[in-house]
Amino acid sequence: MLDIQKIRADFPILSQTVNGKPLVYFDNGATSQKPQVVIDAEVKYYKEINANIHRGVHTLSQLATDAYEVARGKVKDHINAKHAHEVLFTSGTTHGINLVSNGFASILKPGDEVVVSSLEHHSNIVPWQMLCEKTGAILKVIPINDNGELIIEEFDKLLSDKTKIVTVNHISNALGVINPIKYIIDKAHAVGAAVLIDGAQAVPHLKPNVQELDCDFYAFSGHKMCGPTGTGILYGKEEWLNKLPPYQGGGEMIKEVTFEKTTYADLPHKFEAGTPNIAGGIVLGTAIDYLNEIGFDKIHEYENELLEHATKRLNEIEGIRIYGNTKNKASVVSFNIDGIHPYDVGSIIDKLGIAVRTGHHCAQPIMNFFCIPGTIRASFSFYNTKEEIDAMVDAVKKAQTMLS
Ligand code: PMP
Repeated sequence: MLDIQKIRADFPILSQTVNGKPLVYFDNGATSQKPQVVIDAEVKYYKEINANIHRGVHTLSQLATDAYEVARGKVKDHINAKHAHEVLFTSGTTHGINLVSNGFASILKPGDEVVVSSLEHHSNIVPWQMLCEKTGAILKVIPINDNGELIIEEFDKLLSDKTKIVTVNHISNALGVINPIKYIIDKAHAVGAAVLIDGAQAVPHLKPNVQELDCDFYAFSGHKMCGPTGTGILYGKEEWLNKLPPYQGGGEMIKEVTFEKTTYADLPHKFEAGTPNIAGGIVLGTAIDYLNEIGFDKIHEYENELLEHATKRLNEIEGIRIYGNTKNKASVVSFNIDGIHPYDVGSIIDKLGIAVRTGHHCAQPIMNFFCIPGTIRASFSFYNTKEEIDAMVDAVKKAQTMLS
């Protein structure tokens, strides 16, 4: 059992009032709040060891380099990568996906195929469209059913020896649906395709095991898992990272530079040009420690309780439709109320201190599928409570009365 009040005390922002009401923060899918240990670690870095890494012989530079590499090791252990050099620091999921899609420009030929799903965030659609435009490859899309689940038989049919890469999210940001990624990875590998998993919405809720999954790439953001903004990780299998060309050129990523020819640094530095977000990377390690201390099993169990409670309570509201009706779901409820624009509900409940996301959630194809402008999305974290969910339901009912 989690001691929620003790956990909440770790997050200073949660004791704020917003618009004169206690803050109820249900926009965790967009970004999570940060515990005091994370805030302290950021301050400690700048107060005590700020220096550039991998360059200086001086003490601070070595301290900063050590701390950065310790953080890389923590991520390696957390996701169970085989090697620390398979863990690349990025600025976020978007950066990681673009790194891979750019690299595939040197691999794809006209007529090759890239498979994405209908459940993707724009950041796992647009880079692949750009790649297809550049290379003459063809984008294929796995469709969804009315429950917001991928239609797996249709995925099976899309695969062929033309398929070069398959990319899906682990958990949908717009609906919370958990995708059958192990099945997708194995099937894609059977036709010789690589697989990238967008883990942006998974890492706040579970601990991905990249070796067990056997994915070729796994991208995620630090800011959704209690870490700082502008941090992220791209895991890539060593053989793939060796095969792909560098993403950006610059300092840090070279072995030797002459005007005739430049040779590239070994992994992971080949993909880490320029001065990175040093503090961010180190503090992402602190965030991972914090989450592991709480324990992902307990987080999973508690968030499921929140999801169940929210689903039951929201279903009391007349005219509600919840999107993503599937058993395999993270603690996200995406819904609409008959005849009312989601933006209007979001604005009214904001006045009552409740922060939810409204709109298309950077997933317009899903909204088009359901023929809606957007949804109201409440995404829960382990620091939320059932009482907060009750407050949201009351607020939504109030908004419904005002708007009907
Ligand atoms: N993919 C998914 C599923 C997401 O939810 C998000 C963030 N909303 C992203 C990718 C992009 O993450 P970032 O903006 O941190 O790069």
